[in-house]
Amino acid sequence: MSSSAPILLWFRQDLRLADNPALAQAAESGKPILPLYILDEKTPGDWAPGGAGRWWLHHSLTALASDLEKRGGSLVLRRGRAEEILPEVLEESGASEVAWNRCYEPHAIARDKRLKERLAKDGYEVTSHNATLLHEPWTVETGQGEPYKVYPPFWKALKAKGPPQDPFRKPGQMEFAKPRQSDVLEDWDLLPTKPDWAGGLRETWRPGEHGAQLRLEAFLDSRLEDYGRGRDYPAQDGTSSLSPHLHWGEIGPRQIWQAVLHRVDREGSGETAAWKFLSEIGWREFSHHLLYHWPELPETSWRENFQDFPWRDDEEALTAWQAGKTGYPIVDAGMRQLYAIGWMHNRVRMVAGSFLVKDLLIPWQKGQTWFWDTLVDADLANNSAGWQWIAGSGADAAPFFRIFNPVTQSKRFDPNGAYLRMWLPELANLPDAHVHEPWAAPQEVLKEAG
Ligand code: FAD
Repeated sequence: MSSSAPILLWFRQDLRLADNPALAQAAESGKPILPLYILDEKTPGDWAPGGAGRWWLHHSLTALASDLEKRGGSLVLRRGRAEEILPEVLEESGASEVAWNRCYEPHAIARDKRLKERLAKDGYEVTSHNATLLHEPWTVETGQGEPYKVYPPFWKALKAKGPPQDPFRKPGQMEFAKPRQSDVLEDWDLLPTKPDWAGGLRETWRPGEHGAQLRLEAFLDSRLEDYGRGRDYPAQDGTSSLSPHLHWGEIGPRQIWQAVLHRVDREGSGETAAWKFLSEIGWREFSHHLLYHWPELPETSWRENFQDFPWRDDEEALTAWQAGKTGYPIVDAGMRQLYAIGWMHNRVRMVAGSFLVKDLLIPWQKGQTWFWDTLVDADLANNSAGWQWIAGSGADAAPFFRIFNPVTQSKRFDPNGAYLRMWLPELANLPDAHVHEPWAAPQEVLKEAG
């Protein structure tokens, strides 16, 4: 292998050029870079991206390919088991090195470990980096060297490690290897066609690194200052909506951390709101910490005493919940928002999740699976931890007896019913006093509201 042998850059959940340490290293090496994305639907088993995730991936890859093209590179697309494809591409391209950024799903960790061993044995240089988390999950531990099970001390320990490493700059000059045979993205059929249910997603989102930066800027400019209050009101655009961009790695938490604190420094205000927001990024870290240390988190109740819980098997109730037809307005509004735009406000995720698990007594895994298919931000760590939190079966979870009352939550966090009316046209004409519990409205009011 000559010294100008290409370096293979394997993109995974890091679909960006800035703060991408594997790319920065490849650019630094001065070797021609061969960018590769592998659609591996086999290795993740049940956790291959769902419908909304596939839609996002298609557009995110389009954006990445275009960003690389502007710099003279060409993204190679291949489909199949990464453990077969990666060695093939290395062989055919004459590359001597491969670099990637780490993923934390148990199947990805196991696969990467096997690949690393095999490739090293075959004489390839393999390097992996952290592009996804503020700090690696194995570096945050209790005084006894144990993983954390409770969020507040975890967050304290994470902050005590000091600020995360500064984000890597987008490489200036890059040399690229000559283009190789690639699949055509459209042939992967990631987009829905019959029917095309993605109209709401197209109207709402702009996948890709540039879209992520626009979201971050808009959030910092107009929503960060009021985040502590605004984040709880689903009718308001009070949160960042960065979750899908974070999941696909179009932006990294170090970039967010730095941008938020720069803003506080520059404006000298909003520090409390900024730390509240960063603590939510901290929850994301905590979920990854839990998944890393308890890889069975997506399948099994974390608390053993939940493992024999007498759940109900009720397909009809599950279907009504999925379709947003339970009759409980806040639950239905959330489920319809999810189906329409692939995202649901956090407050409503908690209420709708609690309704499924604690009112309908349907196992949390059923809700997790539906979210997996319908969320554009479906993320194995956050989704599993979120559902186990709701069920009361997880680490640092809401206790089993804490049930979100859908009526009081609705009255408190959507007082004039704006969110309900946004997603439930059938309630649009009901007066505020009745919109949260239409079953209690007098007949003549219901009739007048149509
Ligand atoms: P913001 O309030 O702007 O927060 C900024 C970022 O912090 C988010 O983008 C996210 O990365 C992180 N974050 C915020 N809240 C949480 C949280 N509770 N747990 C972990 N990280 C958090 N989030 C996902 O990214 N993917 C999921 O699949 C997912 N499934 C969930 C399932 C349930 C049942 C529940 C209750 C929560 C789930 N969450 C999930 C967490 C949370 O609802 C979303 O991260 C949040 O609503 C995304 O909106 P945002 O980007 O505007 O959040």
